[in-house]
Amino acid sequence: MGIIVQKFGGSSVADAERIKRVAKRVVETKKLGHKVVAVVSAMGDNTDHLISLARQVSDAPSEREMDMLLATGEQVSIALLAMAIQSMGEAVISLTGPQAGIKTNNTHSKAKILDISSERLHQELDQGKIVIVAGFQGATINDEITTLGRGGSDTTAAAIAAALKADVCEIFTDVDGVYATDPRVVPNIKKLDTVSFDEMLELASLGAKVLQPRAVEFAKLYNVKLHVRSSFNYNQGTIVQEVNHMEKEIVVSGVAHDFNAVKMAVFGVPDKPGMACKIFKTLAEHAINVDMIVQSAKVNGVNDIAFTIEKQDMEKAKTLLEKISREINARGISCTDNIAKVSIVGAGMITNPGVAADMFEALAEANINLEMISTSEIKVSVIIEANDCIKAVKKLVEKFNLQDSDVATVAG
Ligand code: ADP
Ligand code: ASP
Ligand code: MG
Repeated sequence: MGIIVQKFGGSSVADAERIKRVAKRVVETKKLGHKVVAVVSAMGDNTDHLISLARQVSDAPSEREMDMLLATGEQVSIALLAMAIQSMGEAVISLTGPQAGIKTNNTHSKAKILDISSERLHQELDQGKIVIVAGFQGATINDEITTLGRGGSDTTAAAIAAALKADVCEIFTDVDGVYATDPRVVPNIKKLDTVSFDEMLELASLGAKVLQPRAVEFAKLYNVKLHVRSSFNYNQGTIVQEVNHMEKEIVVSGVAHDFNAVKMAVFGVPDKPGMACKIFKTLAEHAINVDMIVQSAKVNGVNDIAFTIEKQDMEKAKTLLEKISREINARGISCTDNIAKVSIVGAGMITNPGVAADMFEALAEANINLEMISTSEIKVSVIIEANDCIKAVKKLVEKFNLQDSDVATVAG
């Protein structure tokens, strides 16, 4: 039989009892004849706890030391899971990300996996051991410890599954699969039996934190089948795989929301070549991801450029933009963080005109003002006031018939 990668998120390993339950599940899979690699996250909200500890000792901890600190969370859970499996009489070994051969670039706190040297993993599996790998971490070619961004254990799992050509990568979490929207926001919501890589990539990038977007990118690139399911029961979850979009009947598959966006604007930018390049190149050089970009119509030889970034980059972006604004003789900058992004996603949109209009109609009915709009072939996103976000999600779920008569299964 083949290799199975199983990833267990923080809530699945939140305490000793849950770790023992995960151990049982991993051993069961091994006993079915599979080679098993289990990737684990830090216990419960340990990563948040470590971040808060860092803030108590420093206002501006360096990204290198933050990575050093945060990587410890996953090391606690791999050791405990390995001990629990040992006590069941199974051969097992725990490995840190670097020990598992995960090489990343130098971007501390959101490093990208460049390569996985899988010799050690193969060697341990060939000796009949279950291998437990710490999610969320790797090392640079200079052996500096890095982390992969919040939710990064998903990416560790998908990348290992790709490197080992695993049959499937199972993402065990605290809900039964991928739903049409966050089941904690709308409990009576449809579960998706399957979802395409492209749709999942959009949903994840637009705020559905059930999977980290990079994990979906890896899975798509190396054609790894992902199975998102609950670690609290044996129900079939959601399969994320290549789906023929031409056969899509459902126009909108899901609604995502994200409170993690900040709107930045540069006012009175001179209307000449090179201005946008200067702004966005500088942000890119500082590893700041930019999402929606809007340039206003020219008035009196200047225009305004507005865009969204992630909240954690706000202070860094403000400092950079203030400097650029002075250099290019712009009028000034602004920064608004009480906003939310709400998006509809569906591969069927390509062939069905009018979906965006339906979305705007639903939001207008709810008296919600749209501050920014962006579209792609399979998604429409809007920026609205944070206070209106949940109302907007509920309204869109209703508009596109995404409700279900059953209440979604959500573990505490
Ligand atoms: P883990 O610790 O297992 O990685 P996460 O908290 O990162 O778990 O992701 C699971 C959570 O994602 C769920 O508890 C749910 O609230 C949230 N979520 C957001 N959008 C969706 C969605 N469309 N489908 C399922 N879960 C979603
Ligand atoms: N422990 C990390 C986090 O909380 C990584 C993960 O859980 O995937 O973001
Ligand atoms: Mg997660």
